[in-house]
This record gives sequence, structure tokens and C-alpha cells, in this order.
Amino acid sequence: MHSILGFLESFRANYFCRFCLIDQSSAQLVFSEDDPCLTLRSPILNNQHYNNLVDDPTLTSSFGIKRKSILNSLKYFNIAENYAVDIMHDILEGVGQYEVKLLFQYLIEYFISKDSLLNRIYAFNYGYMEKKNKPTNINLDRAGHGIGLNASQTLCLITNIPLIFGDLVPEDDLHWHLLLLLLHILNIVFSYSITEGMTVYLKHLIIEHHRLFKELYPSNNLIPKHHFMVHYPRCIRKIGPLIHIWTMRFEAKHKFFKDCVKNFKNLTVSLARKHQFALAYHWECMSLKAVESGPVKMRSLETQEYSEIISPYLHVDLQNTVKLTNWVKCSGVEYRVGLFVCTGTYENMPVFSKITSIILHDGKAVFVMVEHETCFHDHFHAYQVNETIPKKILVLEREKLRHFKSFDGQMSYGCDSQLYVVSDSCII
Ligand SMILES: [Zn+2]
Repeated sequence: MHSILGFLESFRANYFCRFCLIDQSSAQLVFSEDDPCLTLRSPILNNQHYNNLVDDPTLTSSFGIKRKSILNSLKYFNIAENYAVDIMHDILEGVGQYEVKLLFQYLIEYFISKDSLLNRIYAFNYGYMEKKNKPTNINLDRAGHGIGLNASQTLCLITNIPLIFGDLVPEDDLHWHLLLLLLHILNIVFSYSITEGMTVYLKHLIIEHHRLFKELYPSNNLIPKHHFMVHYPRCIRKIGPLIHIWTMRFEAKHKFFKDCVKNFKNLTVSLARKHQFALAYHWECMSLKAVESGPVKMRSLETQEYSEIISPYLHVDLQNTVKLTNWVKCSGVEYRVGLFVCTGTYENMPVFSKITSIILHDGKAVFVMVEHETCFHDHFHAYQVNETIPKKILVLEREKLRHFKSFDGQMSYGCDSQLYVVSDSCII
């Protein structure tokens, strides 16, 4: 991005930010775009910096700008109007791992041995949906800010840390509070829809988070990725939820090309051809059905639990048969019996329901669910779910769910009674 826009590529540069004129030392003190010490870049300022470079050819850069970008010659674009930030690199491969590493060092000093800490992480049940992203080979001794996890593993670990270690840490612990602030920030920036009010709340969360970080770790620097977060609220207001532009999808697409390079002769032709073969294969194999499902069983509706509620919903008589399955996949999202989904909201809180059976009806997936009373547990940063008394049964098509994702009911470490739902984004 910096190369294309004409900025210095190194984050060690004094003027490292493509959005503003902050320098390395001020970035440790300025945590909001409202701060008078922060000057946003603009087409006028950029032109002044380009002129500085022309006036003095010995200069290699002026306020972080190396050269004029060709993109400025476009009629409807100026590089000062670029709002693209990447939550995968900034948060998951940057700030998240850095702060998890510092938190683990703190936990090891006061609460738990290093071996037990790692054992808890490896032994924890992350649930069916996250089993692929389970953290492995954590390295707390490596140099730098990372702990050796990829982006998906970091997201899985960081959202589950409260359930894994929450029992050890007192509720008023400031280091824990820093983690919870980061999780609140993460929930907003990973959300698929964000209100304007949430961007204002996000601004305050970032200020509070960065202040507390400097208070707890005065000898540790905030990294440039911490500073980029300061620009997030404005970027979201300009271009919408950041999850829609995160590089995760592009990197997944890119991986195909990285994996298939064996022959470097006429590389672009080889890659284009292999990509066409792959696309042809996928289209050939692609299921034409909107709903993919597990093995289907035909059962008489009257033998099913809650049949008196299912029958009027489906407009099917009790004597008729229905198609039952244990799992369905719709638009790439898997739903299974036993998982939770969000079926509504109550007082701005999501309400979760547990899928008890899945019926295939008229080419659609219909879920039979038990609604759960939901409340947010601050210390565990998770939704505590309990069956409502008396039981409330819901029958809904997949399209009518409040939120498209499905979740596991999880337990906190060492406790096997209370269920929690962990989400990486806000559900509204
Ligand atoms: Zn900046």
C-alpha cells in the first residue's frame, strides 16, 4: 500500500503513517484524531510535500512521502482519500499477538506457571466451529512481538482467553481490563454492520485502551499498528465495516498461486492457466443445491418432538413425513444440531437459541430450536446462555435468523455446568 501510494515503506520511519503527520514519539501520546497534535494528510499538504522533494533533490523523503503517486492523476481519487486499513495485519498479526504475549508474561509472573498456561491453551475445548483454528506451537520466547500463530489462530485464542484464564484473575485486575478493552474494540472492528454511534464508542475505547497500555507497560512502546487503530473510526464512517476489506480473503485467494508455483518459466501464463483449470474444476463440482446437507432420514412428523409447533409452521399434517438431517451448509456457513444461533434481540442484547433438529423443506433448511436466556458476562467477555423456563420452542428458516453465524456452547476452564457463547463480532 505504501509503495503504491508513494510513502516510505518502513514502519520504523519517523513519519510512518499514511493517514496523518504523526511522528514516532508523538504516536506514544496521541490516541485520537480529535487531538490537536494530530494533523491529517490532505491533498494540499501532500502537494507541499511533493514540492519539498522537487525543491531539494537531495531529500529522499518529505514527511514520509517519497514520490508522487500515479494514482493522483485519476479524476476521482487522491491518495489522501484512501481509507483502506487491514484488521488482519493490524490486529491479529500485530496488536493482538503483542498484547497476548505481554498478558501471558504477566499471568506467568503472578498466577500460573508457563507449562500450565500452555497446557490450558492446548487442552481447552474451542468447540466444533473453531477446531480448525485451535492454537498450536505457541512460542513465548521468540524475539519480536508475535507468539508464532497465524491470523485465524490468534482470533480463536484471543476471543477464548477470558474463558481459559478468567478463573485465575480477579475482576478488578487492570491487565485483564486491558484485554477486555481490546476485545470490545475487536468486536466492533470485526462486525459486519456498524452504526455511527458504534464508531464514536470505538474512538473512546481506543483512547482508553492505548492510555491503559502505556500506564501498565510504560517501558513498552505502542507499535505503529496501535496508531493505525486511531484512524479506524473515521475509516469505518467513510468506507463501512472493515471486515469487508480485510486481506484474509485476498491472502486465501493468493495462497492458490503461491502453492502452485513449481515452474518459473513464463510465470503469468502458467498461473493464469492453472487458475482457469481450478475454476473449471470448482464449477464442475459445485453443488447446484442451495442447501448442502448431511445424510437425510425420512420420519413421520408426529413422532418428532415439538411436532405440534413444527406442523403449522411447515403447513404439513402430523401424519406426513419430514426430511431430517444433522447438519446443513448454506452459503458456506455450517449449522449443526447442538450449535447456537442468534434468533433475535432483547434490550439490545442478542438472544441465542440451540438447534435441536434440522428439517429440509421445499429446498430450505428449517431449524427447530430451544430459546435460551442470554446475558453478557463481562469478566469472561462471553454471552451466558440458559434454557428459558418454561422451554420456548422456535421454528425458523435459516434466512430468518437474526445473524448468519452459528456458535458453539462453550464452558469456562474447570467448570462444566454453565454454557457460554463466544463471538468475535458484535451481534445487533
Ligand atoms: Zn496516523
